[in-house]
Amino acid sequence: MTLLTKIKEVNKIASELAPKFKKLGLETISDLLFYYPFRYDDYSNLLKISEVTPGTMLTIKGKIEMLESRRSWKRRMMITEGLISDESGTVKVVWFNQRYIAKILNPGDAVFLSGKALATESGLEFHNPTFEKVNKYDNFTAHTARLVPVYSATENLSQRQIRFVMKRILPFCPQIKDWLPEEIKKSANLKNLAFAVRQIHFPENEKILDGARFRLKFDEIFLLQARVRLMKQELLLERAQKIEFHKEATQEFVNNLPFILTAAQKKSAWEIIKDLGKTRPMNRLLEGDVGSGKTIAAGVALLNALLNKFQVAYMAPTEILAEQQFNSFCKIFEKYDFSIALMTGSAARVWKPETRNQKSDNNHPASPLAGGSAPLLEKEGSLTRKKNNLLKTIKNGEIDLVIGTHALIQDKVQFHNLNLVIVDEQHRFGIGQRKELKEKATDNLKLKGFYPHFLSMSATPIPRSLALTLYGDLDLSVIDEMPKNRLPIITKAILPQERGSAYEFIRSEIGKGRQAFVICPLIDPSDKLGFKAVKDEFEKLDKEIFKDVQVGLLHGRLKSAEKEKIMREFADNKIKILVSTSVIEVGIDVPNATVMWIESAERFGLAQLHQLRGRVGRAEHQSYCFLFTESDSETTVKRMQAMISCQNGFELAEKDLEFRGPGEVYGIKQSGFFDSLKIAKLTDWPVIKAVKAEIEKLFAFDPKLEKHPTIRNEIKEFETNVHWE
Ligand code: ADP
Ligand code: MG
Repeated sequence: MTLLTKIKEVNKIASELAPKFKKLGLETISDLLFYYPFRYDDYSNLLKISEVTPGTMLTIKGKIEMLESRRSWKRRMMITEGLISDESGTVKVVWFNQRYIAKILNPGDAVFLSGKALATESGLEFHNPTFEKVNKYDNFTAHTARLVPVYSATENLSQRQIRFVMKRILPFCPQIKDWLPEEIKKSANLKNLAFAVRQIHFPENEKILDGARFRLKFDEIFLLQARVRLMKQELLLERAQKIEFHKEATQEFVNNLPFILTAAQKKSAWEIIKDLGKTRPMNRLLEGDVGSGKTIAAGVALLNALLNKFQVAYMAPTEILAEQQFNSFCKIFEKYDFSIALMTGSAARVWKPETRNQKSDNNHPASPLAGGSAPLLEKEGSLTRKKNNLLKTIKNGEIDLVIGTHALIQDKVQFHNLNLVIVDEQHRFGIGQRKELKEKATDNLKLKGFYPHFLSMSATPIPRSLALTLYGDLDLSVIDEMPKNRLPIITKAILPQERGSAYEFIRSEIGKGRQAFVICPLIDPSDKLGFKAVKDEFEKLDKEIFKDVQVGLLHGRLKSAEKEKIMREFADNKIKILVSTSVIEVGIDVPNATVMWIESAERFGLAQLHQLRGRVGRAEHQSYCFLFTESDSETTVKRMQAMISCQNGFELAEKDLEFRGPGEVYGIKQSGFFDSLKIAKLTDWPVIKAVKAEIEKLFAFDPKLEKHPTIRNEIKEFETNVHWE
């Protein structure tokens, strides 16, 4: 047997459990060894029965004097009672509804019991303690009398079962090859990998556990940093086609915008344009708080690429957002003869200059979301046919700008001369997806051998220290100022008794011509799309409270066409109140909306609340954010106060970092980074610092890691193993 042996071949019990492990993505011995516990129960305090005090976590070792199961008078409940004694005394133990206990344990057995004792009227008792038979020949306990690992499990897979198999495969640890060079281990004072893995499951003590943790965290952060470092190094060698700056045309474009660009927008646009003029591919992240106007800053670069007759791809994380950006760009480039296409999982559309003056098709009153003239849509036809047509026109270069979701990488898209790729809300994509897009983008008919320029956008405020680990391969532009016409959004926490007057407030805003969002979180975890909560709320508002007002409902289960219809009706101010799950969280732009009403606000992270709040206050109207919460826990109160007092995404992120973990803060939980971090956190500063020092040294004398094939290999493996989505 080796590390690659399947779990099912380990032994009989493992083979029975194998399908359950598979559900967790664990198939081989190695998979399982690298499946770390997320916490430990400290049962290492082994006491005599006479020393037991109620309420503390401890373990006793004794003999079962008596064990009996009976049905309780409250019926249905199966009670297993026993007496355990050691040389110092006897204690009562009770298990509820664990019928199997009586089959495993028998009077006369020596056992460990771990848990807390309760003080009852009839003396100390253990209720539902963890137990483990004493084995004369093997004093290695897995469930008791030590730091006991707790894993994230599935419903049908118990901690006991995981630990059982884990203990069985522990002897394979020595086969784990350490891929880090001795110099690094020595200099960063790291434990051996095999040792660390063994200790992470069944640590001898806290101190050794700390050492094991440090080593495993080091590995994860090291791979992240080394990977981006290597990518950056490689990118420096890539070549790109220049995109010439069309100065006059750009000035005219900017002058014709309905607003004046902020200084920060201009500066960022200029940084991008300078990059585009180089023969090295741009790789830049454009960061700016929600509503700071990233789209148009990117639009300036986009214009130049199009004027240079190159193709541009624009990728958005959701269909709704892709549709919206499609509509905005159709409007922004109304006066230009660019062909613009939309491609998502469920839509394929083209807007061509020659069809622009024709009347819009009535089935699709396709006014851009921000209002204005309507792009003409292609006549109905099957989606497949439309997609195939679209693919052809992208390939032969008829289409200049393609906007889409990850369908852009999934489908068989081939570009003609793609030279600029823009990824909006990039933190919502996995690194893998962005990489795929990049690869796809190099597969160009007319630009073989050249890399396209790459621009990512994100509202996620990332401290530079983190940015290094996450996006060390990117250059950074920051839009750190809001358009001048914005008023701060008035944020309030609303108490249950104030609900009525808050509804009245919405009514008065609607009276003034404004609109409102009502957001409901996922309440029932089995209801992944939050369908129930949002539907109930919709019924209540639509049928009772706002009977006379147009209320719309938006959630993840709607078909894309329906979603789009609803978004469009909202954008056109036909729907006044939009009840939605947090699907609208990213990037939706309806400047006429002035109220953001968030139910069960405590269920959202601060970054997410801030993103939601950013859906209003996008024009000159005074806007409001109402936070409803029934929880008055200390953290909730703190977080609501932070929302009320702070309008700045960066500050909120820092606060959230204090209150919760970075996963919540940066909203990049699903991005692949977090999937790749099983044990390290992006706030493990000592680890990050140690890694950084080692990376600097390593790359200084081996910039392409040519002398370190094992590290290279590990990075490759890491890339393939991470579950990107
Ligand atoms: P985000 O940075 O969140 O992506 P958007 O690009 O969607 O923000 O811009 C938000 C809104 O602000 C849009 O309606 C846009 O038209 C408008 N906007 C952008 N720049 C300016 C500006 N300089 N002055 C006024 N409004 C602007
Ligand atoms: Mg945006």
